[in-house]
Amino acid sequence: MNFENTLSFAQNLDQLDTLHSFRNEFLIPKHNGKDIIYLCGNSLGLQPKSTKTQIESLLNQWENFAVEGWFTKGVEWLHFHEEMQQSLAKICGAKPVEVTPMNNLTVNLHLMMVSFYRPTKQRYKILMEARAFPSDQYAIDSQVQFHGFNPEDAIIEMEPRAGESLLRTEDILATIDQHKGELALVLMGGINYLTGQLFDMEVITKHAKQYSITVGFDLAHAMGNVPLKLHDWGVDFAMWCSYKYMNSSPGGISGIFVHENNFNNKELHRFAGWWGYEKDTRFLMTRKFKPESGAEGWQVSTSQMLLLAAHKASLALFDRAGFDNLRAKSELLTAYLEFIIDQVNAKAGKILYEIVTPRDKKQRGCQLSIIAHHPVPKKVFEKLVENGVIGDWREPNVMRFAPVPLYNTFEDVYRFGELLLTV
Ligand SMILES: *Cc1c(COP(=O)(O)O)cnc(C)c1O
Repeated sequence: MNFENTLSFAQNLDQLDTLHSFRNEFLIPKHNGKDIIYLCGNSLGLQPKSTKTQIESLLNQWENFAVEGWFTKGVEWLHFHEEMQQSLAKICGAKPVEVTPMNNLTVNLHLMMVSFYRPTKQRYKILMEARAFPSDQYAIDSQVQFHGFNPEDAIIEMEPRAGESLLRTEDILATIDQHKGELALVLMGGINYLTGQLFDMEVITKHAKQYSITVGFDLAHAMGNVPLKLHDWGVDFAMWCSYKYMNSSPGGISGIFVHENNFNNKELHRFAGWWGYEKDTRFLMTRKFKPESGAEGWQVSTSQMLLLAAHKASLALFDRAGFDNLRAKSELLTAYLEFIIDQVNAKAGKILYEIVTPRDKKQRGCQLSIIAHHPVPKKVFEKLVENGVIGDWREPNVMRFAPVPLYNTFEDVYRFGELLLTV
């Protein structure tokens, strides 16, 4: 499409957008009486209006049924998450039995590593991308140390080539080849949080699996953002959070994927808890742990009902919008943001705002990461905030902006560009 940098062009795209009405399903903060330009769904998604309804409904059930809410027909908190398994499975390309919402992301990363990081004397290394999200670095370091290895030796962090800021797939595959005899696990972000680069999970997984290396992905920035086919790709496990692109409340519930190929592997350890016990017999309260088959067998603690209520509100919107429709709009919306930034640079006659994220739409989701070539880059960001733009800032000089197809508009992107010209 040939984009134009005009308000009328942006408004026309909004009129043509069949998902436009979904914006009305969200609560949008105000700045000087007008809707804020919210480009921060990569950090915290906006609140759906239906979240309050879902949470109120849960509170009413608690009020009226108290403990019987777990079992009473029509309430049945015990089964509340099962509908969400269906929705999550569609979003990540899994069978419903392979996914479940539970806990928080870093906690799930630890639980998954208990099962899927099984180092031996020969094969004990983990391959990950350099500059992964800090929580993942800390978690993975500590897991490696827990098994008696030294992170400096046991963790291979892939860096981009000198002078480049993105990883090349061919280099990732070559690194796997080079270390195939000593790798226990490939564990990467699906999308790197800082650069916005979407890795080719299918190719990476298939390449590693031919050497019987276990493969997992942290999908914090990918889930609800880009198309995923975890089952078909043969990914062993994955986990995500729901408060970024999945709008399910600050610190909202996380989720896991475990490939069905792993369900009957008796060698996998897990840290067990009663909520992972076989559902039909859990309340017999017997002595020996018997896991529910499927991802639910990895649950540990009682379902967090308030967080699940918030999750349900948001997942219902994904079901209604359809993920393919969301992705189609997202590609266009982010391409428009890219065009607008290029225009700002063209007007300045130099690269004021350098886009770090890949220009190929197959290698990115909503987010564009931008380096401001400004004497005091943080000033640019602060000026945007003063003018009603919410993005986010990562030291020393990266700004991240993510137009989200469920609630952002082409007009948001146009107005963002207008402001960028003035700062
Ligand atoms: C956001 C994010 C986290 C946050 O983890 P929590 O346990 O939810 O605080 C972890 N890893 C990645 C890659 C993230 O993007």
